[in-house]
Amino acid sequence: MSTHVAAVADAGKPSPISRVLHPIRGQLIVAAVLAAIGAMLTLVPLAGSAHIARIVIDDPGSGLAFPTDEQAEIWRTLIVGVACLFAGMALVSAGELTAHLADNRLTHRLRLAAARRLAQVPLGWFTSRASGEVKQAMQDDIAKLHSLTAHFYTAVGRAVGTVGISVVYLFALDWRLAAVSLLPFPGFLLFLRHAMTAGKANMPEFAVRLGRINAATVEFVNGIPVVKAFSVAGRAHGGYRDAVDAFAEAFVGVARPLVAAMAHAHAMIAPVTVLGVVLAFGALFAGLGWIAPVDVLPFALVAPGLCAPLLLLHTLLHDLGGATAAAQRVLALLETPVLEQPSPGERRIPTGHDIRFENVSYAYEAGHWALSDVSFALEPGTVTALVGPSGAGKSTLARLLLRFFDPDAGRITLGGVDLRHIETSQLYRRIGFVLQEVRLIHASLRENIALGRPSASQPEIEEAARAANIHERILALPRGYDSVVGEDAQLSGGERQRVSIARAVLLGPPVLVLDEATAAADSGNEVAIQDALSRFAQGRTLLVVAHRLDTMMRADRILVLDDGAIVEQGTHAQLLALNGRYARLWALGGYEAATVSEEPSC
Ligand code: ATP
Repeated sequence: MSTHVAAVADAGKPSPISRVLHPIRGQLIVAAVLAAIGAMLTLVPLAGSAHIARIVIDDPGSGLAFPTDEQAEIWRTLIVGVACLFAGMALVSAGELTAHLADNRLTHRLRLAAARRLAQVPLGWFTSRASGEVKQAMQDDIAKLHSLTAHFYTAVGRAVGTVGISVVYLFALDWRLAAVSLLPFPGFLLFLRHAMTAGKANMPEFAVRLGRINAATVEFVNGIPVVKAFSVAGRAHGGYRDAVDAFAEAFVGVARPLVAAMAHAHAMIAPVTVLGVVLAFGALFAGLGWIAPVDVLPFALVAPGLCAPLLLLHTLLHDLGGATAAAQRVLALLETPVLEQPSPGERRIPTGHDIRFENVSYAYEAGHWALSDVSFALEPGTVTALVGPSGAGKSTLARLLLRFFDPDAGRITLGGVDLRHIETSQLYRRIGFVLQEVRLIHASLRENIALGRPSASQPEIEEAARAANIHERILALPRGYDSVVGEDAQLSGGERQRVSIARAVLLGPPVLVLDEATAAADSGNEVAIQDALSRFAQGRTLLVVAHRLDTMMRADRILVLDDGAIVEQGTHAQLLALNGRYARLWALGGYEAATVSEEPSC
């Protein structure tokens, strides 16, 4: 789509904010109207005070002690003024309450929708995203919308109500004094516009230097251990200090003209400025005989009251930019492509546990195939090892079998059924996995082990933990199985892995995908893990991203991957006899050294 066509298409689309606020739009409008009417009513006492002052000044003999018509008028004005004040305050409060209830409803809906969406996105989506990104959208961005939903609409209502009724009232009293009293407000808008354009010229450079300081900070923090170890503190600080100095310079370039213009704008609508203008012109007009001195009073009371709502509105308008970006990120999360689920008509139950990859290809980025045209079968009850150099596609292949994502071409079948036609819950009942990057949730060890089968009994959980060689360690914790991960259960990498094995054991899937530990476990842990795994693997179909010599030697078949394709397959002995790729990897002085990457592969 050309840029122009895209722009035209976008022009017809509602803005992110109006799409996010759609479910509560009615409530927000009601809140704004209540706030507007309330704000108008709260101004009535000011007009009433001016009215009473005029009565008293026009007829100094009248007073509250004397039963005159003026006195009755004063009492009426007082009662109406107080009633309007309370009614106005009640309506403003009702508006605020309505807006906050709407905000609560929206926040609840958005968080639920985000959680539902996250439950449907492919597991592979999480591996490529930092948890910080999800937290930002689900927590920070949804919270940022609060200033928009709970405050912006009522602030607009109050400002429109206050300004509208005040302008009408003042013009009805005297149009000439009304016109000059309101002069500071267009002045405010002019300075505001100037402020907006003032810093703009330096903005691109500011953004570049901000990006640089962010990168330099991350680099600096990540590098602290190395810097300390090699005692090169001065040199490491250098880059960071340069980035900070450059940023400070850009900041001054943006802030200086902006601050001056903003100061002028705010000075224009300070209540004292407006009062000064009213009194100066009021005195002049009274001197010219255009207006009675007492008629200046309503202007002195009402006009300065316009400043506060306008300043608040300006602050909230400033927040609106942040809220728009937040709404965009929330929408992006809510529109994340989900893993296609089979329709009820398409759903099939696998009849066996044999697995077939049929001409499977997959690319993370268009044109760069991580796997191309891969075909093989895993016979039930066999062990298949995946080997190959770093980046060959081993983890990608394992993740495709776990349906972290779907192949771009070809298909994978379990028991003769395409994975895409198997319900996710059915799939994970049949295929379990133990990956290097173990995810434990913030819950008790019992809940962590029983994650896939919450109905499991305590003896079943303990049996699984025993099989995974972690039972004794859990009993040694202060609260045993009730110890909470991250609180009173501080576990090492290897122990966490054994908990994840216990989780898989409890589910007892007939197929297991395993990414072998490389550097995570110490030797004691490693023996415990290997022991647990080999017991668990008995009689199951096992696909293992192999890093260990004994795994390869005992595998029924080894698939050698290179550059996304299977280049050799066979047993350890057959492949060595072939004297090809595998034999060369072997001869490199140990397979492990050739495949271990710095990062864990899953
Ligand atoms: P290692 O042994 O180092 O873990 P591997 O054989 O498991 O490597 P994969 O992780 O499957 O290799 O990666 C295969 C190719 O796909 C590599 O070129 C890698 O750069 C690319 N790749 C892997 N994950 C992603 C991702 N999330 N986004 C883009 N490209 C990716």
